[in-house]
Amino acid sequence: MRSTIVAGNWKMHLDVAAARTLAGAVSAHVRSAALPPQVGVVLCPPAPLLAAVIDEVRDTSIGVGAQNMHAADSGAYTGETSAGMLLSLGCTHVILGHSERRQYFHESDQLVNGKLLQALRQGLRPIVCIGETLEQRETGITQPVLEIQLRESLAGISAEELRGVILAYEPVWAIGTGRTATPEQAQEAHAFIRSVLADMSDSDTAAHMVIQYGGSVKADNAAELFAQPDVDGGLVGGASLDATAFAAIIDAAR
Ligand code: PEP
Repeated sequence: MRSTIVAGNWKMHLDVAAARTLAGAVSAHVRSAALPPQVGVVLCPPAPLLAAVIDEVRDTSIGVGAQNMHAADSGAYTGETSAGMLLSLGCTHVILGHSERRQYFHESDQLVNGKLLQALRQGLRPIVCIGETLEQRETGITQPVLEIQLRESLAGISAEELRGVILAYEPVWAIGTGRTATPEQAQEAHAFIRSVLADMSDSDTAAHMVIQYGGSVKADNAAELFAQPDVDGGLVGGASLDATAFAAIIDAAR
């Protein structure tokens, strides 16, 4: 059975004290909720808050991920963070290719691919984001856009490695806008993504891969989205900053 993974992307919000409070509240919920083993929870705070969050979730099943990393082992890359540094802190996951990084920091599929290869080599579980813009959807090129992102971002990854990759389908027009893909739109995109993954590897590998939906997931729409057969949880931005809302989204993944 595939896992369902709910990840919170805190973006550039909070400070150490607020991160401790929020991570503590999510930990308390996860401890008391007795989640089934196939439901995973990951928190992705900004890099300077990772250590505090890792400390707060100690002794729970919650994973902690960075929102970005560099593809190199080390070097003269001022302001960057390596996979080794994240691992030495205790990180388990890393988000790669979020649309905000693609849009504001000009990250290409090739750059994401280099980071992905490094994350897999080093043993961090990647959450690779793909998704079309509103203009691309309205001109009817959603599927070709997703296929190019998949083939280029995941180039050179073996079928065995692919099983460890979490994909996040995040239509750009739904991120932070309050406008969510309908469950049918999400299912259609996820089924298409799984068919491309099967073509890139094999159907068994594709069937095992976790494909999250992201884009204005809230407490009141999560259950319907997660009930779709190819939707395996969510990457949650805004609603992950509210402990009560995020707890309800975690519960919707049961
Ligand atoms: C995200 O940051 O990946 C995201 C989906 O944000 P939001 O839930 O706020 O749309």
